[in-house]
Amino acid sequence: MLRQVAEGVLVHESEFVQTNTVVVQGRAGVLLIDPGITGDEMVAIANDLRKLGQSVVAGFSTHPDWDHVLWHAKLGEAPRYGTARCAAYMRDLLSDAGAKARIAASLLETEIAGRVPLDLLGLIAGLPAGTAQIPWDGPQVRIIEHQAHAPGHAALFIEERGVLIAGDMLSDVLVPMLDDGDLATAIEEYLTALRLLEGVAGDVDVVVPGHGSVGGSDQMQARIDQDRAYVLALRNGQVPADPRVGPSAKPGWEWVSDIHEGQLRRLAQ
Ligand SMILES: [Zn+2]
Repeated sequence: MLRQVAEGVLVHESEFVQTNTVVVQGRAGVLLIDPGITGDEMVAIANDLRKLGQSVVAGFSTHPDWDHVLWHAKLGEAPRYGTARCAAYMRDLLSDAGAKARIAASLLETEIAGRVPLDLLGLIAGLPAGTAQIPWDGPQVRIIEHQAHAPGHAALFIEERGVLIAGDMLSDVLVPMLDDGDLATAIEEYLTALRLLEGVAGDVDVVVPGHGSVGGSDQMQARIDQDRAYVLALRNGQVPADPRVGPSAKPGWEWVSDIHEGQLRRLAQ
């Protein structure tokens, strides 16, 4: 089900870890951001769009994790974009013949096992480094690229609608998930990314995280502050006190605490 969150901006929330797909109304069709998870969901989005008389004219993936680079044939053959780094990472991943089988295997224990179509996964065209906006016929969508969480991660800001699409940051249910590699570097990059997002925070009326609840204007700075407090605690060698993990975590989302514990182990190394 598509729910309007701002003029010409609709969100579909997946049954799988509250993954948000964003539809932006353009002049000749829609832009589809992080298209969805299960085949059924993507077909439902395609059907909803058809009922609205709309087709997908462009796609965008905020970053190269499997849950953000899926696609279904029913969504059509529009160009699918990502940052140059995102596309390069995806190309590299797909050059490994076993990559999709590993993703499928990682889902076997989940409720969506066998329901995620992987044949069109990751077919992303990289936009040239430094591209400021998504090339399409609709409201300007600014690309705020940063190196946090995943290579070539990008938030998207639709200024005229006051909507920030945050990718896997600024979630009310997920703690900051730091990129692989050197932890100190990942921490600094995360803080830099939060400063970049803070630069537009005053103009944000609606924040849409990759996973979690859509937030209003009051949530934008609050989530930046919460993510920053978490990352700063790690930088100081402390265990973050964060409501998204421990007893106050979302029921059934114990794996968030696992991610958190993993980051604490990295800290201890
Ligand atoms: Zn994700």
